[in-house]
Amino acid sequence: MPPPAIAVVTPVFNEEAVLPELFARLTAVFAANPGCTWRAILVDDGSRDRTADLVRAQAARDPRFELVELSRNFGFQSALTAGLARAAPADAVITMDADLQDPPEVIPDLVAAWRGGAEVVRAVRRSRQETGLRRVGFDAFHALFGKLIDYPIEPNTGTFGLLGRDALAAFNSLPENNRFFPGLRAWIGFQTADVPYDRKARAAGEPQQTFHHLMRYALDGLFSFSRLPLRLLTFSGIIIANTGFAAAIFYAMRRILGIETAPTGYTTLVTLVLFIGGVQLIGIGVLGEYLGRIYDEVKRRPNYIVKPAARHRAAGERGPGA
Ligand code: UDP
Ligand code: MG
Repeated sequence: MPPPAIAVVTPVFNEEAVLPELFARLTAVFAANPGCTWRAILVDDGSRDRTADLVRAQAARDPRFELVELSRNFGFQSALTAGLARAAPADAVITMDADLQDPPEVIPDLVAAWRGGAEVVRAVRRSRQETGLRRVGFDAFHALFGKLIDYPIEPNTGTFGLLGRDALAAFNSLPENNRFFPGLRAWIGFQTADVPYDRKARAAGEPQQTFHHLMRYALDGLFSFSRLPLRLLTFSGIIIANTGFAAAIFYAMRRILGIETAPTGYTTLVTLVLFIGGVQLIGIGVLGEYLGRIYDEVKRRPNYIVKPAARHRAAGERGPGA
């Protein structure tokens, strides 16, 4: 049997500061594990620094490294999707961040779990180096998210992990544009194994995922994997309507029985109007979140566009849905 072919897929966006160390550490991992044939696909997500040039130079030095260049910044999820579309015919593909928060030295453990029979391997954080507001945000998201979604996602997992050939094919066949990798990985199923690891601080540079990115990512996760917001709307509608009905009977009885005759209730009226108006606006907002995503999907725009220079090598390929 030929040795298994493993592809490492990594989106990179303005990562010139970490790339030299990433190349060195990946090369060391490849060298220490000669039982597999290795490939690294780095997807440049429209970087504005020398990221693409550095990857191109590395690819010239070592043909196991490959550059896929997107035509602009499409975001982490799209860049990952582009890389995974290029990974076939690998026997297994590793997904990880470029900033070395996911240490490449864990890759052999992921491969070992895969060789032990798992089709999907998730790297599970034993610890996390994030502090302050980011930490609070991540924790709150995972706590809330775990309760809301229809397909349970292990809270301490992120992108880092491995997909076997069948899982990769399943992932690549998914048509949707609003992609949330951990959710889709849970959704495709297959025998799954967990490998614990310590998540490191960023090796160099600044986090490239802005608050806006992370917010969008969190909302995608929530609205793509849960119908609970819609259900909550229905429930609050029922509760408010019943309360209103009970109040109507209560006040009508007071009138009929002559307990209350003077025209009072201005405060009550204002409160109710504002409250119900607010609830309706929230409801419209929730509907809008779903509607916007449906709109994104029906447009069927590709998830990403690969720059022509990189396209010569794999002729005519464009994003899924193109
Ligand atoms: N990234 C990307 N496109 C973007 C933003 C980030 O491809 O628009 C990449 C980035 O280069 C890194 C990974 O996504 O490899 C994770 O980004 P970052 O470390 O900034 O996010 P965090 O660790 O805070 O989730
Ligand atoms: Mg990071």
